[in-house]
Amino acid sequence: MHEKLNEFKQIMAEIADLNTAASVLGWDQQVNMPSGGTEARGNHLATLGKFTHELFTSEKVGKLLEELSSDASALGPDDAAMVRVAKRDYDKETRVPGEFIAEMAMVSAHAHEAWFEARAKSDFSIFRPNLEKIVEMTRQYVQFFPPADHPYDTLLDNFEPGMKTADVQAIFNALRPRQVQLIKKIAAAKQVNNAFLHKKYSEKKLWDFGVDVVTQYGYDWSRGRQDKAAHPFETTFSINDVRITTRFEKNNPIAMLFSTMHESGHAMYEQGVNIEYERTPLQRGASLAVHESQSRMWENLVGRSLPFWEHFYPRLKKIFPAQLDGVSLRNFYKGINKVEPSLIRVNADEATYNLHIMLRLELEIGMVEGRISVKDLPEIWNAKMQDYLGVVPPNDALGVLQDIHWSGGMIGYFSTYALGNLVSAQLWEKINKDIPDLDEQFRKGKFDSLLGWLRENVHRHGRKYDPQDLVQRVTGSKITAEPYVRYLTAKYSDIYGL
Ligand code: MG
Repeated sequence: MHEKLNEFKQIMAEIADLNTAASVLGWDQQVNMPSGGTEARGNHLATLGKFTHELFTSEKVGKLLEELSSDASALGPDDAAMVRVAKRDYDKETRVPGEFIAEMAMVSAHAHEAWFEARAKSDFSIFRPNLEKIVEMTRQYVQFFPPADHPYDTLLDNFEPGMKTADVQAIFNALRPRQVQLIKKIAAAKQVNNAFLHKKYSEKKLWDFGVDVVTQYGYDWSRGRQDKAAHPFETTFSINDVRITTRFEKNNPIAMLFSTMHESGHAMYEQGVNIEYERTPLQRGASLAVHESQSRMWENLVGRSLPFWEHFYPRLKKIFPAQLDGVSLRNFYKGINKVEPSLIRVNADEATYNLHIMLRLELEIGMVEGRISVKDLPEIWNAKMQDYLGVVPPNDALGVLQDIHWSGGMIGYFSTYALGNLVSAQLWEKINKDIPDLDEQFRKGKFDSLLGWLRENVHRHGRKYDPQDLVQRVTGSKITAEPYVRYLTAKYSDIYGL
């Protein structure tokens, strides 16, 4: 048994290395690579993907998993979790032929480049054939699996293990009317002023300020770094090498700061995983929703809170005296929390954000069911924006082309963002019970108790527990919308005097 376990771990470590190599290539593609490298990079990723797939789905791994899982009680809890998680991945991957995975990698590499150009020129027709191919392949992908309650379940499960389309729809259906009601109340209240956010800010100074903030959060720079990318992301090469990216937008300079906080939340999660899990199937976060709960917590529940700015605002004001001249702390706080239906998901405020997600979920489900064709996406997108948020994109760059996900073949992903918001608030209620003076600590610029709590209760476990089980274990219930609704209502009642 011991020998088999060691053999299994050795192969898993090699697979982790191959996956890491692909992540490095992906990071380089988004951070450094000239556009001329697209074709070659597609080959690199396709070849790596093929070999990784072949190694992981080999008969040998299948046999080891069979033997180890048939005698799981002889394993320690970590090893048992490792085998369980790897077996689930194995069962999924053995259903998908290696050629299909290689083709998808190639198609995605081209689609990424096409999306980039399409967005720059705001011309959906450049991206359309690529996306059509991706949707066609996604529908093919679903066919490799046994029929689920809904074909979309198969896709969702890749990002949120155990979660069903019907579960998400039920949570969203309960949430939507309450968020819409809150937004309406806010719309009827006196609007806050955030004109100071739209002044000119130095990119360098904002970058440096963001670095200071996440250093104070506890992001470990000896095991990380930050670069610029078109679409901010976090990527992990090792528990000891977890990187983030950010971007500067002239029209929305301060967003850079919140993007750095957001990605640092993802990164601190990955830096906090038990070092024993390095190069094993347990190394990553539990799921995308749990991951997003961490990024959203550091960006919003911490980074857009009043106690946080009681500490940081004097410093920010010193760096940008002209831009923030005459702006009180209270008005700054209100300004960065302004609620206003807007076009771009990543810049949306907390009250409207989830509606952007609901729109995408409906489009994805429609495409997977075959009810919605790619050619109609821009029109349907705009109609739904009008419906949910009352705003219509003037062009596709600000509409259907804004997100990178579909170009990477990632369909089934978006709902995890909204679920992450819900989990962040759910954890927050528990954290505030366990650490009653959290606000006081933030006012002093201290975040170590929060990070310590997250390390202990969430981070160190990596993928050991399924997301719903982890949330239940920590908070006492599965993912639910109630704490998020309570959080939004309390925060915006104060800001807008509702
Ligand atoms: Mg994120």
